[in-house]
Amino acid sequence: MDNCIFCRIANRTLPARIVFEDDRVVAFEDLNPQAPVHLLVIPRKHIASLRDAAPEDEALLGHLFAVAAEVARARKIDSKGFRAVVNNGEWGGQTVFHLHVHLMGGRIFHWPPG
Ligand code: AMP
Ligand code: ZN
Repeated sequence: MDNCIFCRIANRTLPARIVFEDDRVVAFEDLNPQAPVHLLVIPRKHIASLRDAAPEDEALLGHLFAVAAEVARARKIDSKGFRAVVNNGEWGGQTVFHLHVHLMGGRIFHWPPG
């Protein structure tokens, strides 16, 4: 989708600090980091939110989280612990409507989040 910023990052028509990519997903630095490590992991396929994922996206969703864990290991935030969050819809705090996993680490996180 031309008017989706995360599709544009995935197809490299919008610059981003990409840290990992393969044929199905892309991981890049969040522009406004909320932790020492704050990355976003997205599917290349435009899926607006988790609500919009179809049954045929099940393997892709699994891969998205597998890559998030792999990137967490690569960035060395896995041993202390990290947070992987998917905001969904207006009340869920979603502002960019292309499904993304926030991968955050390097500090202590509290629960419940605000
Ligand atoms: P959410 O509120 O869950 O939809 O998260 C959207 C995230 O995208 C926020 O953390 C923003 O800082 C981040 N963001 C927005 N635009 C960009 C961009 N061009 N490059 C990297 N991160 C972005
Ligand atoms: Zn998109």
